[in-house]
Amino acid sequence: MIIAIDGPAASGKGTLARRLAGCLNLPHLDTGLLYRATARALLDQGQDLSDRIAAVAAARGLALTDFDEDALRGPRMGDAASIVGSIPEVRAALIETQRDFARRPGGAVLDGRDIGTVICPGAEVKIFVTASPEARATRRALELKGRGEKIDFAAVLDDIRRRDARDRDRAAAPLKVADDAVLLDTTKLDVEAAYKAALAIVFSHADPETLVSQSAG
Ligand code: C5P
Repeated sequence: MIIAIDGPAASGKGTLARRLAGCLNLPHLDTGLLYRATARALLDQGQDLSDRIAAVAAARGLALTDFDEDALRGPRMGDAASIVGSIPEVRAALIETQRDFARRPGGAVLDGRDIGTVICPGAEVKIFVTASPEARATRRALELKGRGEKIDFAAVLDDIRRRDARDRDRAAAPLKVADDAVLLDTTKLDVEAAYKAALAIVFSHADPETLVSQSAG
């Protein structure tokens, strides 16, 4: 069973994907890390984020096991990732890695921007998680505060809006709701309520026999 979870920055899709994967004994891939790691590699090499040749080489050189998540989650990295993510050749270089992951026996949970539309259009369950920019900026600000970083709420909101626009308006695999995805608006939901709602969507869309064998495994 493949579960595709898409949505904009700080919508809570990563937390939901991780919890669903844990509950269903499925491996989880946060595909944003691939774009973040590509951007990180370019910055470390002193390359420009819009250098297509260097960006494709960095994307091809990634290994799923060597991500330093803490370093990749830094505030500037989301924006940097969205710059490399708008390069079609970078996206093309990362497609097979993501599809191979999704093809694991038993399936997988993948979260990102284009999982339900491009990477796994045949996924059994597709959820598009969203929330207002203000709600997402509040969550992101709290997360940054928890990491001991100084917060400027207006700057956080600005970053979210800029990223939304870049992800939505790019030509290659833009952020959009797949025709057969279920929309989950978490603006007014806390983490627990959002998880319950996501679980209900999975249970109403997945094949019951698959669900029983997954949660028993
Ligand atoms: O999900 P996360 O915020 O970690 O993603 C960082 C950036 O990577 C996004 O803003 C987006 O531009 C890019 N991305 C993407 N496609 C994905 C996952 C992330 O373009 N499947």
